[in-house]
Amino acid sequence: MVNPMQGECQCGQVKYELTKPAFVAYTCHCRACQKLSSSAFNLCMQVPAEALAISQGNAASRVRVADSGNELTSWFCTACGSALFAQNSARPRIRTLYAGTLDNPESVEVSAHIWVKRKLPWIILPQEHRIFEGAGDWTEDYADDMSRYKPEG
Ligand SMILES: [Zn+2]
Ligand SMILES: [Zn+2]
Repeated sequence: MVNPMQGECQCGQVKYELTKPAFVAYTCHCRACQKLSSSAFNLCMQVPAEALAISQGNAASRVRVADSGNELTSWFCTACGSALFAQNSARPRIRTLYAGTLDNPESVEVSAHIWVKRKLPWIILPQEHRIFEGAGDWTEDYADDMSRYKPEG
């Protein structure tokens, strides 16, 4: 992965830049991500909040309450509806970037898959990747920066 990376919504009105490497990249097969992406799974990348900035246009945000009780804020283009990234209220220094919006999504090194119990049956996952039936555990990915992942200790 070469930084900075750029991405944009489907119509191109909103563009963003990512200036630091991701902590982890994974696919999420939960129902919320299937609905959000209107597809089989969502390609996600957890990145440092301060390294992600909108470089053109304005993204709108909406908030939903996750099963965990945390508030998930997601940002999207009001013109075309593409969802770009999100923030979990429990981890304010992390953004979850929806990596399908990157200009070069092929450069994302996916290493894990979460909510696999909701995975559509025809998707075959690489067995050398980390596979989680439910939520992912990213403790090892944040080993150098644990306060970001577990702000309350
Ligand atoms: Zn757009
Ligand atoms: Zn999901």
